[in-house]
Amino acid sequence: MRILLFGMPGVGKGTQAKILSSKLNIPHISTGEILRQAVNDETNLGKKAKEIMHAGELVPDSVMIGIIKETFSQPRCKNGFILDGFPRTTIQAEELDKLIEELKLTNVVVLSITAPVTEIIKRLTDRLTCKNCKSIFTKNEVKDLEKCPVCNAKKSFYQRKDDTESVIKNRIEVFNNVTKSVLDYYKYKREVIFIDGNDTVENVNKKILDKITSKFDEIKY
Ligand code: AMP
Repeated sequence: MRILLFGMPGVGKGTQAKILSSKLNIPHISTGEILRQAVNDETNLGKKAKEIMHAGELVPDSVMIGIIKETFSQPRCKNGFILDGFPRTTIQAEELDKLIEELKLTNVVVLSITAPVTEIIKRLTDRLTCKNCKSIFTKNEVKDLEKCPVCNAKKSFYQRKDDTESVIKNRIEVFNNVTKSVLDYYKYKREVIFIDGNDTVENVNKKILDKITSKFDEIKY
């Protein structure tokens, strides 16, 4: 199965992708995470992307499409994937469709998660990530913890540079002005499954799995 996870920053795509990845046994491909790793490693890609990401803007389509082509050529993507954070523009969506056709990829489903903007801002300003395993927590959840409860890494929690209030506002604006139109593109091309993300992580995950299993009832997880 190939899941294209769509939604505003902070709506829960990363959290849900991680759970789905382990339940469905397919890799979680986060373009944001690929870029953050490149920034961290100070690669050429990282140097190009750093300032753009810290401002909450979009990395150019040609760069992103190159990343996706390279990722899809990896053996781990052979039996499916969960794509989180791509496509973010109509051009990326068109290029992705070309690639899907070229590689004859089947069972592609678009999942759009929604939540109110006030909830999104609250979640993003309250979000900490483990540097080591990339698990996501609220500040309160790890307030008194020395180690990550998932991977045991010590003092590994950090706040993303783009999770400050002014950058969050810009990311939401970019979503509304550019990324939202990807849904209009898919409206005529693919079925889009909408999920209300304004709920607990467990409930959202259950809703996703219920919808997916009723669509592909042969899936085992
Ligand atoms: P994310 O982790 O998905 O919130 O992505 C973090 C940042 O990486 C975004 O704000 C963009 O600057 C960049 N980015 C990630 N995916 C894309 C994409 N598909 N197109 C353009 N920029 C992207």
